[in-house]
Amino acid sequence: MFVNVDAVHDSPDFPTQVDVVIIGAGIVGTSAAYELARQGISVALLEKGLIGCEQSSRNWGWVRQQNRDMFELPLAMYSLDRWEAFSGEIGRDVGFRRSGIVYTTDSQASMSKWEAWGKQAREQGFISHVIGAEEAGKRAPGTTSCWIGGVWSPSDGRAEPAMACAAIATGARELGAYVHQNCAVRGLEQHGGRISGVWTERGLVRTSTVVCAGGAWSSRFCRRHGIELPSANIMGTALQTTAAPEVTPGCLTTPNIALRRRLDGSYTLAMPGRGRVEISPQGLRYATKFYGAYRSKLAKKLQIRVSSSFFRGPEAAGSWQFDQISPFEQQRILDPEPDMALARASLAALHKEYPALSGVHIARAWAGMIDTTPDMVPVISAIDAIPGFIVAAGFSGHGFGIGPGAGRLVTDLVTGSVPVVDPAPYHIERFSDGSRIRQPEMM
Ligand SMILES: Cc1cc2nc3c(=O)[nH]c(=O)nc-3n(C[C@H](O)[C@H](O)[C@H](O)COP(=O)(O)OP(=O)(O)OC[C@H]3O[C@@H](n4cnc5c(N)ncnc54)[C@H](O)[C@@H]3O)c2cc1C
Repeated sequence: MFVNVDAVHDSPDFPTQVDVVIIGAGIVGTSAAYELARQGISVALLEKGLIGCEQSSRNWGWVRQQNRDMFELPLAMYSLDRWEAFSGEIGRDVGFRRSGIVYTTDSQASMSKWEAWGKQAREQGFISHVIGAEEAGKRAPGTTSCWIGGVWSPSDGRAEPAMACAAIATGARELGAYVHQNCAVRGLEQHGGRISGVWTERGLVRTSTVVCAGGAWSSRFCRRHGIELPSANIMGTALQTTAAPEVTPGCLTTPNIALRRRLDGSYTLAMPGRGRVEISPQGLRYATKFYGAYRSKLAKKLQIRVSSSFFRGPEAAGSWQFDQISPFEQQRILDPEPDMALARASLAALHKEYPALSGVHIARAWAGMIDTTPDMVPVISAIDAIPGFIVAAGFSGHGFGIGPGAGRLVTDLVTGSVPVVDPAPYHIERFSDGSRIRQPEMM
């Protein structure tokens, strides 16, 4: 079992009543708990496994504004400021470093896209630089490739997935939030048409507001309550190398590899765009909503297969009672087997690209289930049918970077304050109001 997260102590007492319950302690749930606690709101953060044990500790650790869907850019820009502030506020390192991101390419089409994207981004106040062949070579020295250019975003950064959620959850607990691990939320208790509590494996917690930040499990949780959250889980594989000389101080993507320098002197390495979709009842249920996404170039490198996901886990069918063991306790940590052929291919591509790294090996590889929406923009939305219920899920492979902003937006939805960014693009009803589902725009 792959668990690579800093340990967090649970709160000494288990609450019977709070203002807000948050389901799931990934980057979104921990950030929301922290922001709510900072505003003096009583909040319980309940996690079925360990803090940050699913996607939020398995990602590449890129914290970027570059190449975002324009709808997400304001949230990404706000999030970078929160990433920068966290360590000082909490007194614990979340591993954030503003060390810049470089993408290189051998395709004129990519260059044109970056030019067009950069113009729109500048209107929102984000500056990145499209660079020519010479500068691309300088920003990523030592490779065997000759790129025609790239794009460089110096204000982007990286953070350490193994450290971030643990630090933020600890910060939330120190501000008064209840934090409990190995505590699955089985379902919502409703009274008079609105939320009156949650059923957990330790009993009922009374509350008027619940935030579902359950990552890959959110859609199944919502379905149990009659809410449709179209989601497809895509399995991504990544690896950590052994310690290696520095070839980039931050994050670098070439057409074949995505590389992040880690604080411990190794790299997190993966192949961009590669992953696996497992056929499942949930996938079949929402297949038509994903028609545009499957046709886009983003889906071209995905493998499709049938596996145990059909019968077990977040995408399986079947209901449960709240006084019985739920699917969330049956799989405390979603820990798919990594695709080792893909991991080895990533390492071979790294060796080819960087001869200076030819002595570097795979220290460990892992996989994570990426909860993806049809337009690859998350849902951060109140649910009109269940007053008091808010969903923050579907971060589609890029939620680590915007998790802190999402946590703040959730807080604004809870308190009714002026939202930090316009929440309209994140409303869940875009998938059911008859409007055309947008093709994914993230690059
Ligand atoms: C291989 C890979 C690479 C990625 N790279 C990047 C990257 O470089 N940059 C980036 O921005 N994003 C990246 N991502 C995406 C990013 O990791 C996710 O979008 C983000 O972590 C989602 O955070 P979350 O809090 O929504 O979900 P999660 O981190 O999955 O957290 C959800 C939590 O909810 C818990 N939970 C679920 N149901 C219940 C329940 N009923 N009761 C209690 N607890 C429950 C789960 O156990 C889990 O801990 C990557 C993802 C993967 C897998």
